[in-house]
Amino acid sequence: MARNLDPKCRQCRREGEKLFLKAEKCFTDKCAIERRSYAPGQHGQKSGQRLSGYGQQLREKQKIRRIYGVLEGQFRRVYAEADRRKGQTGENLLQLLEGRLDTVAYRMGFGGSRAEARQVVRHNCVLVNGQRVNIPSYTLRPGDVVQLTEAARAHLRSKAALEAAAGRGFPEWLDVDAKAAKGVFKAYPQRAELPSTINESLVVELYSR
Ligand code: SF4
Repeated sequence: MARNLDPKCRQCRREGEKLFLKAEKCFTDKCAIERRSYAPGQHGQKSGQRLSGYGQQLREKQKIRRIYGVLEGQFRRVYAEADRRKGQTGENLLQLLEGRLDTVAYRMGFGGSRAEARQVVRHNCVLVNGQRVNIPSYTLRPGDVVQLTEAARAHLRSKAALEAAAGRGFPEWLDVDAKAAKGVFKAYPQRAELPSTINESLVVELYSR
């Protein structure tokens, strides 16, 4: 299975902001963005580099892809589906990305990072409505019940991830019982509930060229 092997902190530094690609490290002062907030590479510290309109659109698309850990081809397919649906394409895009099983598993605390949550899904450790689903890109529908298998719940790493997520608080669109490692995907999130640092309209502009 193809995946992005670029070092995670380097991806954040490229985008100039925290993308929370690692587990607890992202919430400590060991975060690379806290220490070196400039772009990676030989010319990373050069200041005053202005991006063209196209450059800004491209960077925003890359940033969203990196946050959700989606490769180019898959991202285009999600975009095509978002465009096909009723409503605003940009909002649909974010809702579809938030409805992916790996993202929901991450938000519910089944893994410390999205990558870890994806691995948990791949390893047959997640049930959707009582059935094992091992496809990270599986799109959930409102009302779906997602839970960790009993065997996975016993792992120390899962327990630590669940505790950390519960400590940070769960998003409004999920109803999570951290003790039972189980939750309901209540609805697709509204745009206002998602980070304002994402500018999905730039992606729409990019793909409308
Ligand atoms: Fe990004 Fe986390 Fe690395 Fe900080 S620690 S740069 S947020 S992946």
